[in-house]
Amino acid sequence: MHRGRLHERPGRSYHDLGDPMKFVAAIFAVSLLQARGQAQGIDFSKIEILTEKIAPNVYILSGSAGADPAHEDAAGGRIAVLVGPDGIFMVDSQYAQLTDKVVAAIRKISPEPIRFLVNTHVHGDHTAGNANFVKMGALLLAREDLREELSKGPAASAAGTPPAARDPARLPVVTYGMGDPVKFRMNGEVVDLIPVRAAHTGGDTMIRFENADVIMIGDFYRNYGYPFIDTNNGGSLKGALEALDQAMKIAGPNTRLIPGHGTIIHRDDIVPYRDMMLAVEAKVRAMIAEGKSEQEVLAAKVTAPYDAKVPGGLAPAGAAGTSADRFVRMVYAQLKSGAAQ
Ligand SMILES: [Zn+2]
Repeated sequence: MHRGRLHERPGRSYHDLGDPMKFVAAIFAVSLLQARGQAQGIDFSKIEILTEKIAPNVYILSGSAGADPAHEDAAGGRIAVLVGPDGIFMVDSQYAQLTDKVVAAIRKISPEPIRFLVNTHVHGDHTAGNANFVKMGALLLAREDLREELSKGPAASAAGTPPAARDPARLPVVTYGMGDPVKFRMNGEVVDLIPVRAAHTGGDTMIRFENADVIMIGDFYRNYGYPFIDTNNGGSLKGALEALDQAMKIAGPNTRLIPGHGTIIHRDDIVPYRDMMLAVEAKVRAMIAEGKSEQEVLAAKVTAPYDAKVPGGLAPAGAAGTSADRFVRMVYAQLKSGAAQ
């Protein structure tokens, strides 16, 4: 459907192009559009920012459905904002092309300045708007590892999302490591920036709003498609499993865990997800012990018992094949390299 839409865009057919130079130019324009479409495929003009109030002064902002092929259910990554007289604290910055719409949505909630912005991880659907918010006066914070990943690119393979512009303002000004959480006290809330060891990427952070009892967990958990662990940007299978354990440990039974994409969950929802990851890991490990190749492991369809329960599990996920294939390839590579020991 998205492809169809892209092909309609040139607005001209080849039939009215008698002039050969015009024809060549049109072919060139079409292939440029197609190249851009493959890199992004996102119709930013169609995306609306939807606001959900989840606590008296905490709001979640999500992109609308059906305009971002990589995130069909809600375009881009989720944003959280804490509002009040001390100014706005914001989690993640969405695609840069959506900044105006995000700001308009925030302005419907609060007229206060956006003082602080933190990134859950490096991917463009969470960081590409950084420079825009920094130029509006926000102080940008993130893990030191995220800053390194962002200054490098991030790696092109990252989730197929558009890379952040090379604007130096996109880079975190304040960084932190793997120590105790960084704490913010503002607007009657205590916000903890909780570092997570190499999970979805190498620079993940969970952001907990203590009084609202809400944790933004980023992308190391996802409930559309199989887990995506971006080893090109420092993520690891072992770290992702640890991050799930960590989230279960700090969450209470009623804590709302808010992933970057998909539906809001509670602590108990992590259990079957983690079990599935461990079961797939065990199967792949056994096949490696039998000397099986990556192709043989993929052909064995080791995720089959879960495919019916994982929405989007068999949907295409770029060059890696389906989301299931991408997950299995990652598990195989992590076990082969010894990174998951
Ligand atoms: Zn991500």
